[in-house]
Amino acid sequence: MKGAVLHGARDVRFEEWEAPRILEPTDAVIRLSATCICGSDLWPYRGINPTAEPTPMGHEYCGVVEEVGRAVTSVKPGQFVIGSFFASDNTCPRCRAGYQTSCEHRQLVGGAQAPLLRVPLADGTLVATREVPSPDLVPSMLAASDVLGTGWFAADAANVRPGKTAVVVGDGAVGLLAVLAAKQMGAERIIAMSRHEPRQKLARELGATDVVTERGDEGIARIKELTKGVGADSVLECVGTAESMQQAIGAARPGGYVSYVGVPHGVQLDGQKLFFTHVHLHGGPAPVRRYLPRLIELIESRTIDPGKVFDLTLPLDKVAEGYRAMDERRAIKTLLRP
Ligand SMILES: [Zn+2]
Ligand SMILES: [Zn+2]
Repeated sequence: MKGAVLHGARDVRFEEWEAPRILEPTDAVIRLSATCICGSDLWPYRGINPTAEPTPMGHEYCGVVEEVGRAVTSVKPGQFVIGSFFASDNTCPRCRAGYQTSCEHRQLVGGAQAPLLRVPLADGTLVATREVPSPDLVPSMLAASDVLGTGWFAADAANVRPGKTAVVVGDGAVGLLAVLAAKQMGAERIIAMSRHEPRQKLARELGATDVVTERGDEGIARIKELTKGVGADSVLECVGTAESMQQAIGAARPGGYVSYVGVPHGVQLDGQKLFFTHVHLHGGPAPVRRYLPRLIELIESRTIDPGKVFDLTLPLDKVAEGYRAMDERRAIKTLLRP
């Protein structure tokens, strides 16, 4: 089997590695209908997180079950399934509280930029659709695996409510789908912070009512201006840098909610400053599994179309070009066809 392997900074190769198989009785092996490159894959790709050894890449997936271990009861071969980047049992107290990405038995899923993938804890991790979806729905199903689920968590964790104002910091795929989620949750005003014209346009298509191009203190001042000097009820931080986090906290009103779903890189918070903002903070690796059944329903009924964030589709063997396009911001998100 051939898949994407990262060897070092900006060195992704499409090469042979051992096909996954059932190792534990609770595993499933799925044949991917589509896979993709994540914004978070760019951290190791750019060498910001160093690569110690050749690493199979990819953690976003959907496809048809090929084989299950003998202990698996909830999914069977032939079913179309979606799972998240952390496998979880979905039964421990942390999972039952809705935080499957903190599962006591969680396991990172990797190597999804390939034709076949092994998914541990299949019963807890995978959610099957009613039937194999029509091909035009596959990109949206794939988006549910991470970026939609993460954007959804951003809106939920920031307490987005009908009639309220939500600000989304970040115009990557997660930020764009956080806009979609805020719209679904009934926010009246959705302000997207973006400087990139094609992304502003997509943000508006997905539900943004306003776009703010300023950043940092100027960005905060602009949000204050748009909210009668008060700040936003909900701010969804979808980047993970020190600047975006400061901007998010600064844009929230006293008593407002800030969610943060981008893996932090160099974020330090000043306790004294934070104390006087009165904001609620809630974030972390999104428990996508919690939302999957609902998201699948919304996609099957064609209520939402999160697959719009894929603006580049390539055959899997062109994976290196997919990384380059995202690295150079020529593409928002690359879908790969095995
Ligand atoms: Zn991802
Ligand atoms: Zn668990």
